[in-house]
Formats: sequence, C-alpha cells, structure tokens
Amino acid sequence: MSALGERLARQIAATGPMRLSDYMAACLGDPQHGYYTTRDPLGAAGDFTTAPEISQMFGEMIGLWLAQMWMQAGRPTPLLLAELGPGRGTLMADILRAARAVPGFAEALEVWLVETSPALRERQRDTLAKAIPAARLHFADTIEELPTGPLFVVANEFFDALPIRQFRRAPGGWAERMVGLEDGQLLLGHAPTEPDAELDRRFGTPPEGAIVETCPAAEAVVAALAQRGALLLAVDYGDWEGTGDTFQALRGHAAADPLLAPGEADLTAHVGFRWLAEAAAGHRPLFTTQGAFLERLGITERARALARAGGDDIVSQHRRLTHPDEMGTLFKTLALVPPGMPDPPGFA
Ligand code: SAH
Repeated sequence: MSALGERLARQIAATGPMRLSDYMAACLGDPQHGYYTTRDPLGAAGDFTTAPEISQMFGEMIGLWLAQMWMQAGRPTPLLLAELGPGRGTLMADILRAARAVPGFAEALEVWLVETSPALRERQRDTLAKAIPAARLHFADTIEELPTGPLFVVANEFFDALPIRQFRRAPGGWAERMVGLEDGQLLLGHAPTEPDAELDRRFGTPPEGAIVETCPAAEAVVAALAQRGALLLAVDYGDWEGTGDTFQALRGHAAADPLLAPGEADLTAHVGFRWLAEAAAGHRPLFTTQGAFLERLGITERARALARAGGDDIVSQHRRLTHPDEMGTLFKTLALVPPGMPDPPGFA
C-alpha cells in the first residue's frame, strides 16, 4: 500500500470506517500525498486526458461564448473570469486567445485560477505567461478568496473530482458507503441503514439495492457562486440526475481498483447536474450535451477553417469532442444563468 494508504488504514483502525467522501478527499487532496497535490495527471503520460488537451477548438468555443455573454451583460469592466481546477491552463489560454476577437473583452478580464495543487499552479503560470499580463493573473485556493465584482466562472472536469457520498437503498432507509479495514486491507462496506428525508426527496424510494450519490462539496461551491450572482458554465461527464454507482479510479488511462494505491490513482464520479442546478437558487439552469453545445457554437465551421489552414488532426479532434461514441454525449454542459441575464448561446 502507498504511504497515504498506510496512514488511512491506521486512522480507520483507530476511529472506525470512513465515509467515501472523506476517503476521496484524502486521496485527491492530501497536502502531502494527494493525487492532485503531487503530480500533473494529464496527457498521454498521465492518467487521463481532457477536452482542452485534445483540441484548441474546445476553449475557443467557450471563449466566444463568454465574450457574447460579456456583451449581453453590458460589458462589465473589469470582469472577474474564474476557472475552477484549470489543470495545465490550456483551456484558459484558448479562451484568452479567442477573447481577442471581441474588442475590449480580453482587456476587461481579471483572471482567477482556483487551484489547490502547487504542481499544477506552476504549470498554469507557464502556460499563461504570454496570454495575459502577470498583474491580471491571480490564484486562489478556494472560491471564498475571489474578490467582489461581476463574475463569470468556467469549470471543465472539476466537479467530477470533488468527493462524493454514496448510499444504497435498504428497507427503511439508506446505508452509506464506507471504507473500512479487514486483515490490514482497505475494503468497501456500508454503515448501518438510517432514514434520510433529503435522500427520499431527491431519489424517492427506489428498489432495494439501488445506489445513489451526492456531492455536497460541489453543491456548496455552486451555492456560494450563485449567492454572489456569478454566471457559471460547467462541463463534465454525468447526467441530469446521477444514477447508480459511478465511483471509479483511473490510472494510466485504464480503470483501476480505487482502494489499491490511495493517492496514486485518479478518483472520480459522474456529476449529477440536477443537484448543482438546485443549489444555484434563483439561477436558470440550461443543460445540453457537450456535442450539441459545441456544434451550436460553430465548432464545425471552426474545424473547417483550421483544416483549410493546414491544421493537423482536426477531423479527429472534432470527432473526439462531439461524436456520441466519443465525448459528445457522455459529457454535458450546464449553464447557471443569474436572474436578468439573457439566455446564453449553445442551448437549443
Ligand atoms: N480543467 C482541467 C483539469 C481537470 S483535472 C482540464 O480540463 O484539463 C481537475 C483539476 O481540478 C485539477 O487542476 C485539480 O488540481 C483541480 N482540483 C481538484 N480538486 C480541487 C479543489 N478542491 N479545489 C481546487 N482545484 C481542485
């Protein structure tokens, strides 16, 4: 077992089984051994790849989307543009390049990167060194550190990295998924069944054995952003209502055992977008697939232009981002629009 695994095992031996969410939070975010704290997980040599790493077109479409919303909002200047979990900074670099197509927009931006990983922060600083003056590039550990002012927020594959709780329907209530210990090995089990009115409200009374998930951390982030009137665009894998057991580990682009090497595999779960929308009280949710969103924003025309200009691989990039057999329908796009702001493009 990893060093973090040994520590978690000692902790469980001392104080009893831990919630899946606490396990996930430790594996991903432990300040010393956490998965994101210690490495750059992206790219061919890493554990997974993401839409902005596949193609510049992804960030360009989002950049134009943001520019349009900025114009519709009356060109607030300065505008705080925050990205949650910016990875290598590629999405923001592509956004900023596309932003220059709209006069005044790039110059209006104060960019805030909300990132806990020191390794990735360095990477983001490098990527963005030429994209925006250093004085307008800021870092924050949490959204609480964002200053006041008009705020647009983007997040790609951020919410799937936040810790989930998981429950199994049992007679008379719900049994929470826990990580316990047996013969020195971590193993998954369940806490005793308890009634839970909030889970009943969300999921009704599904058949015994049905599994549901919640992500309190994601809901807290969305609620706080909505509270301050931010426009939010989230892209991630998942569905309107999450269903079933979606907790998974990824290592070297393949599924792995989530208990085997804590801190060394990526742990994720699908996003239940409905619960994010509910957390954004007063905001209008608009929801569609990544493929439809990008198509409506004009990715096909952009791909043609890039291909004509001699761009490599453009057809396959376009396919990976939009095709139903690739990311096109597994990934979804959710906009949470503050009251008074018109409907954004890209959603039917
Ligand atoms: N958005 C990027 C990276 C996705 S990976 C892309 O699409 O390529 C998830 C990102 O979220 C990483 O940058 C990771 O360090 C960051 N992250 C994970 N948990 C976080 C948290 N609680 N607060 C801030 N950032 C977090």
